[in-house]
Amino acid sequence: MPIPQSDRGRRIYDDDRRYVFHSWSAQAGLDPLVITDAEGVRVEDADGRSYLDFSSQLVYTNLGHRHPAVVEAIRRQAAELATIAPAHANEARSQAARLIIERAPASMEKVFFTNGGAEAVENAIRMARLYTGRYKVLSQYRSYHGSTAMAINTTGDHRRWANDYGTSGAVHFFGPFLYRSVFHARDEKEECERALAHLEQVIAFEGPQAFAAIVLETVPGTAGVMPPPAGYLRGVRELCDRYGIVLVLDEVMVGFGRTGTWFASEHYDVEPDLMTFAKGVNSGYVPLGGVLLNGPVAHFFDDRPYPGGMTYSGHPLACAAAVATIRTMAEEDVPRQAADLGRQVLGPGLAELAQRHPSIGEVRGLGAFWALDLVSDRETREPIAPYGGSSEAVTRTLAAGREAGLLLFNQYHRIHLAPPLTMSAEDAREGLRLLDGVLDVTDAYTTAARV
Ligand code: PLP
Repeated sequence: MPIPQSDRGRRIYDDDRRYVFHSWSAQAGLDPLVITDAEGVRVEDADGRSYLDFSSQLVYTNLGHRHPAVVEAIRRQAAELATIAPAHANEARSQAARLIIERAPASMEKVFFTNGGAEAVENAIRMARLYTGRYKVLSQYRSYHGSTAMAINTTGDHRRWANDYGTSGAVHFFGPFLYRSVFHARDEKEECERALAHLEQVIAFEGPQAFAAIVLETVPGTAGVMPPPAGYLRGVRELCDRYGIVLVLDEVMVGFGRTGTWFASEHYDVEPDLMTFAKGVNSGYVPLGGVLLNGPVAHFFDDRPYPGGMTYSGHPLACAAAVATIRTMAEEDVPRQAADLGRQVLGPGLAELAQRHPSIGEVRGLGAFWALDLVSDRETREPIAPYGGSSEAVTRTLAAGREAGLLLFNQYHRIHLAPPLTMSAEDAREGLRLLDGVLDVTDAYTTAARV
């Protein structure tokens, strides 16, 4: 990226490079884009260049940037009761909890608030372990659950490796993913049946009495936006019931409208025992996450203390932002807007791009949640970057995106498209038009370009 020209931009950039230690990165080669302003579906850099945000940052600004109702709620809350310890009841937290439970799967009764997604996963696993008296936890390869101790160990991507000392009790299995099927399945039905049989076999070989929880993203997100086939999550629910295992659905990324419903579990008619959320609950304006507990797990702690908590659990500023976000989403039927955006613009638009661009191996997604699986060869489905890494093709594709004024989310060989749920059809079409040009850069790295 060009280093900012303005004095302010330059100062921000220099202080960042000198003093800020960034997540997940080797520090020396970093070259961050300096953002100084953001509104709606656009962000602006320090030199006044505008970018269409097709990433919702890390898939969390579900209402876009600087939504006036959410900003005003935070302002008011700051003036009235900026903070209070978690033991005290307060209006913002009580309201947020009620509004969340009213929209959650019917069996959910209580909310335990955390500061973000990883802490939510961490506490859901702690609850499941105490509830069952068991230790081991099952989760999928191709998943992301956060970066704290248990959350990173349940995570099924390369970021776990450096954090895995082999003692966490996390056991991984393959979920259904027809495009890159490890089960040699020919259709979704076969993939579903074989994935469930595989999971049951893993449980049998690891010891059915050992497992406290199965932790699953309802639609795996960071790992590639892979909506599960019909019947898969119901099948996992049945296995949990058969073996006395707690089902934890991780909706940190997909909760609060992302897939076109309040929670993604609605698409699959499945009731978890525990559900995690964060991100979209308040569009990320103030850090907030949490665990939803069903009756049996919640009541297990009626007469025995729950051994977990945080100074900022249910912080009033974060909860006030959640109340304003949920009310706005309800008033404007934002989940429906996301569903329409997917059905009417993003789905058909991306399918059309796939016809023109040989680098697109598969388009997957729903609502405002999509991925392009980029390949160097459509026949072999060879990813355009290796597992756990990047490639010149991807680096140049992302650079072309920024050059075109488009912010994209990337992991390995994939580009994810997850705009704010409120993005207009016109802005979404503009994003697809820009993406069309960007993919010309990617196409140059395919076998099709070499013939
Ligand atoms: N779970 C899922 C499904 C996520 O996508 C993420 C973050 O991307 C997390 C958990 C971790 O959330 P946080 O980064 O807020 O700790």
